[in-house]
Amino acid sequence: MSAIDKHRFPSVHKGIVRAALMALDAGFPDAARHFTPTDREILIEHAADPDLPGDRHQGRGLHYYNAVDPYGKPFARHPVMLGYCNGLHQPAPSPLSVLDSEYRTALALACAGRRAAAMDSLTRALHMLADTCCPPHTCSLTYFSRYARMHKRYEATAAELFWISPDADACAKPWAMRAQGFVPYPAYTDLLRPAKLTSAGEYEAGKFAELCNALARTGGKELPAVIGEDETARIRSIEKRLTLSVAHCTALLAAFARDVHDKELPIWREQTPYWLSTVSGRQTVSRSPLYLHFQQDGTCILTAGSGESLAVTMLRTVRFLRSTENTLVSAGAVTNFRFGMEPLLTLYPSGDQQTKVVCSFDSLRQKFSLTAVNRLTGSFSVPQTYAGLTLRTECPQQTEFLYAQ
Ligand SMILES: [Zn+2]
Ligand SMILES: [Zn+2]
Repeated sequence: MSAIDKHRFPSVHKGIVRAALMALDAGFPDAARHFTPTDREILIEHAADPDLPGDRHQGRGLHYYNAVDPYGKPFARHPVMLGYCNGLHQPAPSPLSVLDSEYRTALALACAGRRAAAMDSLTRALHMLADTCCPPHTCSLTYFSRYARMHKRYEATAAELFWISPDADACAKPWAMRAQGFVPYPAYTDLLRPAKLTSAGEYEAGKFAELCNALARTGGKELPAVIGEDETARIRSIEKRLTLSVAHCTALLAAFARDVHDKELPIWREQTPYWLSTVSGRQTVSRSPLYLHFQQDGTCILTAGSGESLAVTMLRTVRFLRSTENTLVSAGAVTNFRFGMEPLLTLYPSGDQQTKVVCSFDSLRQKFSLTAVNRLTGSFSVPQTYAGLTLRTECPQQTEFLYAQ
């Protein structure tokens, strides 16, 4: 169990999805029928894509959802998104924001009849859920910290425990059986519930944030097993967390099969006007409806009813074609960003994490000018009426969240 070679075995992500599909067959036959053999092949084969170099979700620190530091000290949640930050101390993109946006994208694509693309998005959502179940990913044991060795050791052991035979189904079976009794399906209802502003003026976490936060916090309890030298404790921890991961992925698959048939859900529809409205529902941010056009890579193009469009190309470069009253307008500087489809309208860097932003958000009643580019990195998110910015300081623990309202 001492080999620290990530590449000796296939990615455990593929194994987790394979086992989750088996647990789905056993416990949720109606939901299981939704997934054709081709669907299953895509889900399994592409499960590890977000880790591949050059992938749109690959990137230093983006697969971390750190609830605690390596000493177990809790981090604060982002005050508006109410989730934890990624390995770069930014609220997005993170496993939470990607899980949320890819799940919604998968539903939208499936409703538009684009099955293969939907499965590609769904498996990305599963990947992020599985990463959130993995303690090194929620306890700040990043690859670029002095804990990299412990992180790699934990995952290498997980791969060794999982891939015990050349027959992938035989490897997955015991994990599917372990997970079967613990699938938290009831918790996977109302998944599209966004964060909302309460009457007390506080934000209440959305459903995905609630699920991810709980998983990330329990990951903190595994710290001694991950960092320590007790191999038996580590193996026990891995068995527990892998089972948890399979159980949660099974629940997400079952939820997807249910949600895709729910006509009442606010699923983005292609060619359907989408209005960005405020959390409270009292205001409308966008005067003209925005039409969404889904791209194969999961990004989308937003077009205003009046014809102007805010394009996100396949290169994931946001081009502001024309400034309109209600759309994002660039100040003519760097626009190397892609659109997230979170309920929080989020722009985040594509590729170059150091890219600086200069942009402003014009809406019916608000104008956000974000021009202090110096130490600004990370995300610009507009959870409907609020803008959240991350300002990185010298000490990452003191990263501040700035707001414009
Ligand atoms: Zn990952
Ligand atoms: Zn990892």
